[in-house]
Amino acid sequence: MERKVRVRFAPSPTGPLHIGGVRTALYNYLFAKQHGGDLIFRIEDTDSTRFVPGAEEYIIESFKWLGIQFDEGVSLGGDYGPYRQSERKDIYKKYVQMLLDNGKAYIAFDTPEELDAKRSENENFQYDASTRMQMRNSLSMSSDEVAALIAAGHQYVVRFRIDPGRDVVVHDIIRGDVSINTSVLDDKVLYKSADNLPTYHLANIVDDHLMEVSHVIRGEEWLPSSPLHVLLYEAFGWQDTMPRFAHLPLLLKPVGNGKLSKRDGDKLGFPVFPLEWHDPQSGNVSSGYREKGYLPEALMNFLALLGWNPGNDQEVMSLDEMVRLFDLSKCSKAGARFDYIKGIWFNHQYLLRKDPLEWTPEFDAILRANGIESTPEREAKVVGMMRLKVIEYTDGNNNKKKRNISFVSDLWPLCKFFFVAPVTYDKEDKFVRKNWGEDTPDMMRQLAERLQGVEDFTVDGMKAAIDPWAEQTGLRPWNAWRVALVGTGQGPDMYELSAFLGKDETISRINTAIARL
Ligand code: GLU
Repeated sequence: MERKVRVRFAPSPTGPLHIGGVRTALYNYLFAKQHGGDLIFRIEDTDSTRFVPGAEEYIIESFKWLGIQFDEGVSLGGDYGPYRQSERKDIYKKYVQMLLDNGKAYIAFDTPEELDAKRSENENFQYDASTRMQMRNSLSMSSDEVAALIAAGHQYVVRFRIDPGRDVVVHDIIRGDVSINTSVLDDKVLYKSADNLPTYHLANIVDDHLMEVSHVIRGEEWLPSSPLHVLLYEAFGWQDTMPRFAHLPLLLKPVGNGKLSKRDGDKLGFPVFPLEWHDPQSGNVSSGYREKGYLPEALMNFLALLGWNPGNDQEVMSLDEMVRLFDLSKCSKAGARFDYIKGIWFNHQYLLRKDPLEWTPEFDAILRANGIESTPEREAKVVGMMRLKVIEYTDGNNNKKKRNISFVSDLWPLCKFFFVAPVTYDKEDKFVRKNWGEDTPDMMRQLAERLQGVEDFTVDGMKAAIDPWAEQTGLRPWNAWRVALVGTGQGPDMYELSAFLGKDETISRINTAIARL
C-alpha cells in the first residue's frame, strides 16, 4: 500500500533562513500539495550551543510572507507534537536506551581532552571499530566500572556502533543509488548526558519515524549523513517505513565556482535571506528580499526553477501551476547557478501583472519619505505612464547597465517631475542644450498661449489645438516642452504629462523655464 505523503521542513534555529532553505521548503510544499499530503514544520534545536534568539520567529515570519503554509508543526500544533525537538527530550531518551539495550550503541566516557590527545597522536584518528577498544567506553570496560562512573556523576556520550566493511546504499529519488562503505564512517555520537539531549542524527531519525515522514527532501549538504541515517533506521528495525530520500542540488555562486554565500550577495548587491535580518549578537543588518521590494510570488517562481523546470520553456508560473507541474524525480543533480538577475526579471514580470493601483501603497510611502503628498489615483496614473520604462543602474562590477522597471522603488528617480517642478535646469545636460536655443522662448510663449486657450485639457483636447498649429508653422515644440516640464530628456508623452499636471501647472512650468533658461 502506498503511504500517505508526509514531508517536513526541519530547520535549525541557528540564524536567519538562507535562501537555499527557502527553496527546500518550497519543494517540500510543492511535493506535499501535489500528492494531497501533509507538510510538517519541525524545529531542530538540539544543539544548544548554536541556538540564536529570534531565529525561529524569523523563520515563521518568512513563510508567512512567502505564503508557504504548513499543515502541522511548531506554532500550528498537530497530532504528532511537540514539534520542537528541545521539547522531546524524554522521547529521545527512550530510543537511545533502545539502541543501548539491543547492542547497537554504547556509552563512552572519553573527555574532549582525551579525544584531542588521540587526534594529535594520529591525525587520521577516527572513533570506530579499529580504535574503540582502546578508548574508555562500555565495550572496553566492565559493566560495574561503567555503572560506577555514571553513579559518580561522570558525563558520557552514547555512540552508534557501526560495523565496518559493508556497503550501505541510499536510494535517492534524484541521484539514484548512492553507495558508501561503512568503514569510512565513525561511531557517531547520538546523545550527550551533559545536556540530556540527542544529537541531530538521532533526533532527526526518531522524529521522521514517529511523525510518519514518507519523503525526506533536503539540501545536498545532508547527503553525506544519509548512509548513517539508513543504518539508524535499520538499527531500530524501521527499514520498512524508512522515508524515501531526495537530495536537492546546491545553489551555486552567480559567477565563479562554489556554493552561494552571503558574501556573493553583499558583493553583487542581492539578498540571500527572505527578510531583513538583524543579528542579535553583532547588531549587523543583512538585507532581505521583502525589504528590497520583491514580491513573494516572484521570489518563489524564481526559486522553483533553480534545480527544476517543467521540461519546456515556460518560466512564469503561479504556485498552483507549479504544484501541478513539479516533478521531484526530474530535479537536477548538478548545482543550480543563482542567477540573481533572473530574480529581478521575475519581479518585473510579476509587478507588471499587477494593476497600477496595487503599486500605490509602496509608491506612496516612497513619495511621503520625499515630502510629497498625493492620492492613490494620481499615483496610479504615474505608474501607468511609467511602468514600461527602462532605468540605468550600476551592477556589482561598477558597470553602467539598463533594465526594465522591476521594483516600485525604481519609479521614484524617474517620476519626481510628476510631483515637483524642476527648479534648476542643467545647462550641461545634453538634452537641454540641444533642445533649448535662441528661438525657443518665443516658440514656448506661443505654445503656452495655445494651451491657455484649450478648454478640454485632455490628451485629445490638447492635440486638437497643438498638432495643426505645429503642422502649419513647422514648429517642433515637443522637446523644449519636455525641458520645461521635466528639466531633462525623460518622461512620458508631453500630452499625457500635461494632462496629468493640469493647465495651470503646465503653463506655470513653461513660463518658469522661459524666465530661467
Ligand atoms: N536541521 C537540519 C537543517 O538545519 C535538517 C536537515 C534535514 O532535513 O534532515 O537543515
